[in-house]
Amino acid sequence: VVEAKDVHKAFGDLHVLKGINLEVEPGTVTVILGPSGSGKSTFLRLINQLETLTGGEIDVNGEMIGYKRLPDGTLQRLNEKEIAQQRSELGMVFQKFNLFPHMTVLENVMEAPVHVKHMPKAEARELAIAELKRVGLGDRMDYYPGQLSGGQQQRVAIARALAMKPEIMLFDEPTSALDPELVGEVLNVMRSLADEGMTMIVVTHEIGFAREVADQIVFMDGGVVVEQGGPEIIDHPREARFRDFLQHVL
Ligand code: ATP
Ligand code: MG
Repeated sequence: VVEAKDVHKAFGDLHVLKGINLEVEPGTVTVILGPSGSGKSTFLRLINQLETLTGGEIDVNGEMIGYKRLPDGTLQRLNEKEIAQQRSELGMVFQKFNLFPHMTVLENVMEAPVHVKHMPKAEARELAIAELKRVGLGDRMDYYPGQLSGGQQQRVAIARALAMKPEIMLFDEPTSALDPELVGEVLNVMRSLADEGMTMIVVTHEIGFAREVADQIVFMDGGVVVEQGGPEIIDHPREARFRDFLQHVL
């Protein structure tokens, strides 16, 4: 469902991704591990077209993102509407929740369905209520983000992404900004999404979550995939760099 083929990304002279190949099957969870600066966020941002790649190709649901191939083989950049359409298949959750502080929780979750999808308000409201219940916040709908804990705010951010009915969810260190006692509630929501069959790509340092929930583990370092496999590789790393990394995070 997501296929990265020899993906490169450079910022000027800085070559951040140096040929990433990855396949993510529908209904599976891929966890990306790696040290700071290894290019994990950049890779997620490329999938979601927040950045443009400098080489290679990413396909989402069998369709190349960002470009179309003309009959003569050259690539043509998609227009903004086509890119927005592709991006709507993906939901993304960041380390920082970025909720609208002046809107209630319910309004935050309704915002994109109403303003991006032009859904009637009553329908968006029902949808938002259902998504908030799904993340365990049915009793906080009329609160403002500032009145919630970090874990609750992050669950609102997840509900907000889900309200757009994405086929794939991308998570970039969703628990890194949280106090330790709030991490579990967010991981539990992510675990139940995985159980429901959501396709997910998750950058995290939560090794326990990776071991239990991931179908596929990808260890990146220096802009390349150093090791890749099932969750068992966490306990049996082959590469020295992966072993060192695990010793530092465990
Ligand atoms: P962390 O674990 O700290 O979040 P990461 O693996 O997510 O790290 P990235 O954020 O992808 O790493 O960054 C990889 C490299 O790319 C870093 O050296 C970073 O400084 C650089 N980089 C990222 N975004 C930009 C940008 N917009 N312009 C220039 N350099 C960038
Ligand atoms: Mg990052």
